[in-house]
Amino acid sequence: MGKLNQYKKIVGSSVIEKIRKEAEPLKGKRLLHINSTKTGGGVAVLLDTLKPLFNDLGLKTEWKVIQGNKPFFTVTKNFHNAIQGKGNPLSEKERDLYLKVNEKFTKSVKINHDCVINHDPQPAASISFVKKKHPWIWRCHIDLSHPDMRIWSFLRQYVSMHDAMVVSDNDFKRDDVKIPQHIIMPSINPLEEKNIPMSESSMRRVLSKYGIDLDKPVITQISRFDKWKDPTGVIEVFKKVNNYLECKLVLLGSAATDDPEGVEIYKNVMKYSKGEKDIMIINKEDNKLVNALQTMSHVVLQKSTKEGFGLTVSEALWKGTPVVGSRVGGIRSQIIDGKTGYLVDPLDYNECAKKTIELLTNDKLREDMGKYGKEHVKNNFLTTRHLLDWVMAIKSVMN
Ligand code: UDP
Repeated sequence: MGKLNQYKKIVGSSVIEKIRKEAEPLKGKRLLHINSTKTGGGVAVLLDTLKPLFNDLGLKTEWKVIQGNKPFFTVTKNFHNAIQGKGNPLSEKERDLYLKVNEKFTKSVKINHDCVINHDPQPAASISFVKKKHPWIWRCHIDLSHPDMRIWSFLRQYVSMHDAMVVSDNDFKRDDVKIPQHIIMPSINPLEEKNIPMSESSMRRVLSKYGIDLDKPVITQISRFDKWKDPTGVIEVFKKVNNYLECKLVLLGSAATDDPEGVEIYKNVMKYSKGEKDIMIINKEDNKLVNALQTMSHVVLQKSTKEGFGLTVSEALWKGTPVVGSRVGGIRSQIIDGKTGYLVDPLDYNECAKKTIELLTNDKLREDMGKYGKEHVKNNFLTTRHLLDWVMAIKSVMN
C-alpha cells in the first residue's frame, strides 16, 4: 500500500483518488527540493512529509540541503529578518559569501531535474549558477508583504530568474516580481508522531518527564527561539493572566541549524523569566512533548509579530486546543476569530491576556472552539490538500 493511501481513513478515498489522477501526467518526472536545514523549523517538517508522498505519486523526488557555515547563516538570517521588514544592509563581503556558498552548492549536486523547488532566501541565488533547462519555482515561506527594500531588491534579481513563485498568503504576492505567483498554504501531517492521538497516560508520562504537572491550567507556546515569535511578549501576557488566575506557562523551542540567532534569544528568554516559578522554558526537540503539550494545554498562544504561516497553530487546533494568536500573516487563515480561537493585535498584551483568561475560565467555550478548530484544520490544512495544490502548481509551471 502506498503511503498516500494511509490518509484515506482521515480524508476519504475520493480525495486520494483525485490527487492520484491529477498527478498522473507527472509520473516519472524528477523533482528536486532545495532548502537549508534537515531539522528545525517548519520547512524541514513540511519536506519530511511531502517528499515520500511525491515519490508515492510517481515523481522521483529528491531533497538537497545547501551546506552553509555560521557566517553564511548569519547573512541569510539577516535576509529572513529583512524580508519580514527588519534587516541590516548587505556588505560586499556578505554578498560575496552568500553567492559563493550558493555557487559551491550547485557544483556539489547534479541538478538535471524536470522541476526544482527552491525554498526561501538561503538557496535562492543557486539558480544563477546553473544552465537552467527546466522550470524552477521559488517557494517563500515567510512574510514578504513589507520587505526591507535594500535586501529585497538584491534577492529579487534571483527570485525573478525562477519560472514561478509560491507564497502562503495573498498579502505576500509581489507587484515587483514579474513571474506567475501561486498561493499555497502549508499543512500539517495528521499521521506523523507529533499529530497522532496519544493516550492520556502517555501524555502525562511525557509531561512529567519534563517536570510539567497539571495542577494548574497550562498555557503554551511552541516555537523556535526567534524574535519574530515574541517569546518575551508571551511572558508579559502570562504575567497578566497569572495575576488574575494562577496558571503555568511552558515555552518550548528547539534549534534550527540555519538559525544562528536562536541561542542568543534562548539565553535572553531564560534571563527574562528568571525567578518566575510558574514559567518553564524548554529547549529540546521532542515530538511527543510537542504533541502532549498541544493536546493537554488549556490554551496555546502564537504571539508572533510576523508569521509566514505558523504550523504550530494548526497543530494545536487539530488536537482540539483553541489558539490565541496574532492577527498577522498565515495565522489569520487558521484562527477564525471567536470560533477556533482569538486573533489579537500582536502589540496589545492586555487584549491577548483578556482573551486567554476568557478561554481559561470557560470550559464549554474551549471545548466548542476545539471542536470547530479541528474541523477547520481537517477541511483546509492537512497534507492531502497541500499535496494537491503542489501537483497543480507544478503542472501549471511545467506546461
Ligand atoms: N517545533 C518542534 N519543536 C519545537 C519547536 C517547534 O517540533 O521545540 C516544530 C513545530 O511543531 C512546527 C515547526 O517546528 O511543526 C515550526 O513551524 P512553524 O511554521 O510554526 O514555524 P517556523 O519555525 O517555520 O517559523
